[in-house]
Amino acid sequence: MNVLILGAGQLARMMSLASKPLNIQVRAYDVGANSVVDPLNPEVSYGDLNSGIAFANVITAEFEHITHDVLAQCEASGKLKPSSRAIKTGGDRRLEKALLDKAGADNAKHQIIENKADFDHALQTLALPLILKSALEGYDGKGQWRLKETDQADEIWADIEAFFHGSKSTVKQAVIAEQMVSFEREVSLVGMRDIKGNTKVYPLTENHHTDGVLTVSIALNDNAALQAQAQQMFDSIANTLDYVGVLAIEFFQVGDQLLVNEIAPRVHNSGHWTQQGADTCQFENHMRAVCGLPLGSGELVRPTAMINILGEDSVPNAILDIPSVSLHWYGKTKRAGRKMGHINLSAATNQALFERLEKVAMLLPAQAFSDIQEYAQKLVNKG
Ligand code: ATP
Ligand code: MG
Repeated sequence: MNVLILGAGQLARMMSLASKPLNIQVRAYDVGANSVVDPLNPEVSYGDLNSGIAFANVITAEFEHITHDVLAQCEASGKLKPSSRAIKTGGDRRLEKALLDKAGADNAKHQIIENKADFDHALQTLALPLILKSALEGYDGKGQWRLKETDQADEIWADIEAFFHGSKSTVKQAVIAEQMVSFEREVSLVGMRDIKGNTKVYPLTENHHTDGVLTVSIALNDNAALQAQAQQMFDSIANTLDYVGVLAIEFFQVGDQLLVNEIAPRVHNSGHWTQQGADTCQFENHMRAVCGLPLGSGELVRPTAMINILGEDSVPNAILDIPSVSLHWYGKTKRAGRKMGHINLSAATNQALFERLEKVAMLLPAQAFSDIQEYAQKLVNKG
């Protein structure tokens, strides 16, 4: 079986690694360079998109911001899974909100803004504070504005207008104004759906962000009611999209209620812990799903956490001295804030995991992992 992945970053790399034991051959399409490469060795090039499509039995994606002409060309081959509709929905917040409404998945009160009149209307009808998010090309908190007071409105509108003018997208840009949700915590659910429509999910993870970027995810499996709520929304969204593959849903938890923040039609950073904490990791399960194989279990084998390594190309080797700690590098060149790798750590109980997380955090350089020690301490004290 041969699979072409649209996108040649760390997610393609980890899908390729997980595919080796299944004898699935993976190549990745570097969209920017219009070149098909080996995701484990990107210097090796196999030609352009046409040669990648010819090589593949199945085509899938590691990210949702793919130009529509590339998606159309892949879909025309009959090999694309999930569908271009699903990928586009993850890449355009307008389509995403429409999907959530159709699937009956609760989310923040919002309005689409394409011009000044829409902007003024949103200010009149939605309660402040607002978060405004670009409809297209948003990731890791980029293309977002926070409007807390009405006197910021002119400045923010000028910024958004400039953003519209600067857009290189062939699709009309817009922003979504969303009411700020005052949530207790952010959680996400990673799950998968096979070609027959069977679904499985991993346990919810608690996600900790630093300056708007995910830094720690913890899989705990300690709240059956919340898990059932998340799974129901997963099934509804995945079935509405007739989805095939791994799909992630980010939520805000407000009391015992989940509101969907956004979906990602692909393997997800908050699912990297599955490499050590589940029988079958998200990368293998995505490949199984798109290749028509049965799905592996999403059950938690042991409490597991993940720490993102951002902008650093080394960490103290001493962390590997701690039991059940593993290190995953992506082979990328160092750049400020760039996702360079991650650390997975597991333990027999939740409390032992919190203590181990604190131990690892103490060994990491404080300036690059600024608030992780504090977060770990809080978890230890809370128990
Ligand atoms: P990523 O790629 O990291 O998922 P993104 O650019 O796609 O980020 P969002 O996930 O929509 O953007 O928002 C980034 C973060 O901003 C969220 O994780 C959350 O902390 C905060 N945020 C977003 N929307 C809201 C909201 N309506 N209310 C409160 N906080 C929000
Ligand atoms: Mg997000």
